[in-house]
Amino acid sequence: MKKIRIVTQIIFLIFFSFVIVSGNMVLWLGVFLLSLLGAAVFGRFYCGYICPMNTAMGVTANLAKRLNWQTKSVPKVLKSKILPWMILALMIATMIVSKRVLQLELPILLILMVLSIVITLRYEEWVFHNHVCPYGALLSLTGKGAKFSTKVDSSLCIGCKKCEKVCSSMAVKMEDISKVAKIDSALCHQCQACTIICPTKAIRYTKSS
Ligand code: SF4
Ligand code: SF4
Repeated sequence: MKKIRIVTQIIFLIFFSFVIVSGNMVLWLGVFLLSLLGAAVFGRFYCGYICPMNTAMGVTANLAKRLNWQTKSVPKVLKSKILPWMILALMIATMIVSKRVLQLELPILLILMVLSIVITLRYEEWVFHNHVCPYGALLSLTGKGAKFSTKVDSSLCIGCKKCEKVCSSMAVKMEDISKVAKIDSALCHQCQACTIICPTKAIRYTKSS
């Protein structure tokens, strides 16, 4: 599964580079819109397998952790729930103004990619995924009610928290009373890192109940 994910990410990174070089951003918009609709059925696969920012962030996070650059102390502004929506509004306004007034196609996705790398050099990946990325905010809306998603079978969970530790989007939470893990489909990227690490095979991609 891990290998399939890496290969898919590389293929889409190459495709993304082609889109940037050819200036045909409509192609990528098509990929995103299909993924946005698809998330309502299959979950946020765009984030886990397609998004070039997430691919770059994975490499950046590995490097930043090795060099001990990351801190767990995240400023309040980067924990705000409205920040990604403000960035989305700013992004749309900037695109309209630059196209209509300046006749310029701004490389918004590239700008976002640089931002994602800079933020991940200092903070864990969930900060950008859940509190900065405007695409993530949109995908959380459709991904929330996904018909199929990665779920925990509570009868098999022993509460070891290994899944929580490997999840880069903070989609896993331990329930206060039962002490078993629960996955939030709105935040889950369907990457299956938790499925692989779970010692009791309690996690599966399955139909939501
Ligand atoms: S890794 Fe598996 S057993 Fe451990 S807390 Fe997560 S779901 Fe439960
Ligand atoms: S909950 Fe599991 S499948 Fe979902 S993003 Fe986290 S590690 Fe990946």
